[in-house]
Amino acid sequence: MVAPASTSWLDPFLAAWRPGTGEPHEVREPATGRPLLTLAQATADDVARAAAAAVAAQPAWAATSYVERAAILRRAVEIYEAHRDEFGSWTQRETGAVHGKMHHEQNFTAQELLNAATLPSQAYGSLMPSAQPGRLSMVRRIPVGVIGAITPWNSPSVLGMRVVAPALALGNAVVLKPDPQTPVAGGAMFEAVFREAGLPDGLLNVVIGGAAVGEAIVTDPHVDAVSFTGSTAAGRRVGELAGRLLKKVSLELGGNNAFVVLGDADLDAAASAGAYASFQFQGQVCFAAGRHIVHRSVAADYVDALVEKAGRLRLGDPFREEVDLGPIVNEKQLARVDGIVRRSIDGGARLAVGGTHEGLFYRPTVLADVTTRQPAWTDEIFGPVAPVVTFDTDEEALALANDSEYGLAGAVYSRSISRGLAVAERIRSGMVHVNDQTVNDEAIIPFGGMGASGNGSRFGGAANWDEFTQWQWVTVRDEPRSFPFPY
Ligand code: NAD
Repeated sequence: MVAPASTSWLDPFLAAWRPGTGEPHEVREPATGRPLLTLAQATADDVARAAAAAVAAQPAWAATSYVERAAILRRAVEIYEAHRDEFGSWTQRETGAVHGKMHHEQNFTAQELLNAATLPSQAYGSLMPSAQPGRLSMVRRIPVGVIGAITPWNSPSVLGMRVVAPALALGNAVVLKPDPQTPVAGGAMFEAVFREAGLPDGLLNVVIGGAAVGEAIVTDPHVDAVSFTGSTAAGRRVGELAGRLLKKVSLELGGNNAFVVLGDADLDAAASAGAYASFQFQGQVCFAAGRHIVHRSVAADYVDALVEKAGRLRLGDPFREEVDLGPIVNEKQLARVDGIVRRSIDGGARLAVGGTHEGLFYRPTVLADVTTRQPAWTDEIFGPVAPVVTFDTDEEALALANDSEYGLAGAVYSRSISRGLAVAERIRSGMVHVNDQTVNDEAIIPFGGMGASGNGSRFGGAANWDEFTQWQWVTVRDEPRSFPFPY
């Protein structure tokens, strides 16, 4: 591995890090195109070795005192916080995030660790009544075993930590595969932090690679459950593979989230939130506002406000300059975003602002007069684009909001709380906010989507028990009983 020359806490770890023995892969900074590091990708044998190490280490970890498991997670928070500037630099350079987005992600990553540290000391079962006298009956949560965690590039630290921290806290071992674009913020950082925190060997194993490595994790016989976060297309494939093998699988997938502005909304607040939810991090967020559904009476003013805000956003290298937006992650995604914009304009949408780019830097774009047949409406864009459609009645707004196969997040703006809530409650999405925008998360909340946004799984809070443990019924009798058999 070739790491950049500098002195840091992570560099000695990176210099010795060998997460794979396969073909070398060069990671480049999206903002500059400069090489960041070159790493050997994992092979199928590397995945098998990682899973075997995990399955060997897991039973002793599950039997480790809750005091010790919690202490390791608390130490991990301290180590993470002590080196967060360095981790943040990697996040920015690997993903093209501006400072504000990177700091948000770091705060959430620390929160995931802090919340996970409370899990080992929680009650893990119940005493049950028994139909048979003299029998003690209990139900308890036991670890799933080995969790295969597959994560995307766009928020590598928090999306990894929301799996790794609760999975470990509840007695599992983990094989973690970040996206090849983010091997450090999504992978090396985890191993380095948990090693320093005293996590025993074999419990957290990072492998680097793309779809083939991900599929090797899903199908490895030692991997008991898969936690996948990424696109709906890849999630379907992961779901098929896991389903055939009867493995537990959590799928947290794409979104095309409705942002509804009723006629009585505070328009300044709604436009400011709408611009944030569509443009921040170049729109490369699963719960970005994908479809702005705006009452006809205020739509022209709303579009003007989005245009004005889009015009003021500064684009540039987020690691080296004070900017509001960075680059799109790569050429392929840029072409996808631009293609959706072009085809929507060809289909009759009006380009109110943007629609151009210099290199990977795509200008924040507002499309007005969008119809439900255009790709800007039907597709998850994953770029800084705000498509706006209009409606006349709340029922129409609802029909539009629910006109999507996705169902991740939603937002409704209204000065009437009861009206906003009435609309919000009928939006088919796993998360919905009244007078707040769609990009919202807290480690204690069950996060997840409906429809093509997932398979019903959730991350966070009480949902972590469902994801990372399984029920076991245990009974104990004072005396063994005899059976009148044959009858
Ligand atoms: P992606 O699906 O291309 O990749 C995600 C991860 O899956 C990567 O690690 C990738 O290497 C791996 N992968 C790809 N194909 C695979 C396969 N066949 N088998 C196993 N692993 C495979 O997604 P992306 O482009 O990195 O991320 C963007 C997508 O992720 C968007 O659709 C976004 O909405 C979604 N996302 C969802 C959430 C959520 O919580 N719901 C959060 C962030 C991103």
